[in-house]
Amino acid sequence: MDTQVVPRISREEEVYRLRTPASRRFFAEAREYLPGGDSRSTLFYRPYPAVMDRGEGCWLYDIDGNRLLDFTGNHSSLVHGYGHPAIIEAVQHQLSKGTCFPGSTEPQLRLAKLLCQRIPSVERIRFTSSGTEASMNAIRAARAFTGRARIATIEGGYHGLSADATADVVVLPFNEIDAAAGILQAEGEQLAAVLVEPVLGSAGMIPAEREYLEMLRETTRRLGIILIFDEVVSFRVAAGGAQEYFGVSPELTCLGKLIGGGFPLGAFGGRADIMALFDPTHGRPPLPHPGSHNANPIGMVAGAVTLELLTPQEIDLLNTRGGAIRRDLAAAFAEAGIAAQITGLGSLFAIHLAGRPVRSYRDTLDSDTDLRHQIFLGLFNEGVQIDPRGVGNVSTAIGPDEVSRLGAAVRSVLSRLI
Ligand code: PMP
Repeated sequence: MDTQVVPRISREEEVYRLRTPASRRFFAEAREYLPGGDSRSTLFYRPYPAVMDRGEGCWLYDIDGNRLLDFTGNHSSLVHGYGHPAIIEAVQHQLSKGTCFPGSTEPQLRLAKLLCQRIPSVERIRFTSSGTEASMNAIRAARAFTGRARIATIEGGYHGLSADATADVVVLPFNEIDAAAGILQAEGEQLAAVLVEPVLGSAGMIPAEREYLEMLRETTRRLGIILIFDEVVSFRVAAGGAQEYFGVSPELTCLGKLIGGGFPLGAFGGRADIMALFDPTHGRPPLPHPGSHNANPIGMVAGAVTLELLTPQEIDLLNTRGGAIRRDLAAAFAEAGIAAQITGLGSLFAIHLAGRPVRSYRDTLDSDTDLRHQIFLGLFNEGVQIDPRGVGNVSTAIGPDEVSRLGAAVRSVLSRLI
């Protein structure tokens, strides 16, 4: 009897390979120089990822010339799509003046004001080059301010790879009020901070329930723990971020992605007395925060124009489109008879191939990841780009036609797969 297992290439993968020969050659060469052929571990997928060439509005082009309707915006960094003319023009103007300086710049103050005015809990702010650094610095601040070492994070949470900063961690279940409150109560005065994403992003756009955030707010206040919201992804749901949407204010907030208008940027901010730990004007600060590209003026300018364009009206429109996509995806999976849960908030959405409602990371663990991958490749073959984990978001370059196109592409993929 022949027991040899022959790896089966699915029809979607076969079509994907036929459409991406240049990407395949690129990866074969890139792996000779870069481990895995790239510098971002989250971008890899089987059989090899498509290599990007350029973007325009809501369209993305890979090096094989495939044109893809984009629902990723580089993991939600491009809220106005690729190459928005006003952002490009402002950046070109700044490029002609200089890309970095050994001193502060006017664009930094402009972006700082815009963010502090939009988010009332952010009284003072500092800029970094990534969301990872923002969360690391928020943790440093909480530890120094409270004199405590331990941090509570959320199961399935993601804040960047900050292993040093997050040693000594206790993990709280998401959206489980009694269980999480019990752990907080027991850990009590050991804890410097609770770090939470109001919409759990990497686990698949799972919104917090308001009562859960209210419990975290009340408990941390009572126990003298700093509440940190990681709004790197969730900031887009309202002009003042998810904290405005939920009506819950943290002491510290981490920002990133869209606030850089497509350039590498992060920020952390909050209560003035806590942020004063970074103030060097009275001598060496308790928390030095150097960084050759902190508040790099290119990102400051791109971010400021991005926020000025991201008016409450535009956010309403984004959220309307996000809601339409979530409803349509739920309908498409129901029509195909495939068990799926569509999660998200505002302009963020995710597909979970799970039978039961998804309220936490744990609820995602028995999802059908193989089918999810076939759907991802199938959508690529249909000319649609989502995140391989089944996650997407809407940019202001997406209109009703593009929303319908996503629904049609999903239906056509599902009809092939069932
Ligand atoms: N926080 C959250 C919620 C994120 O999703 C991410 C990135 N995916 C980060 C922090 C880290 O941001 P960056 O990739 O800019 O370091």
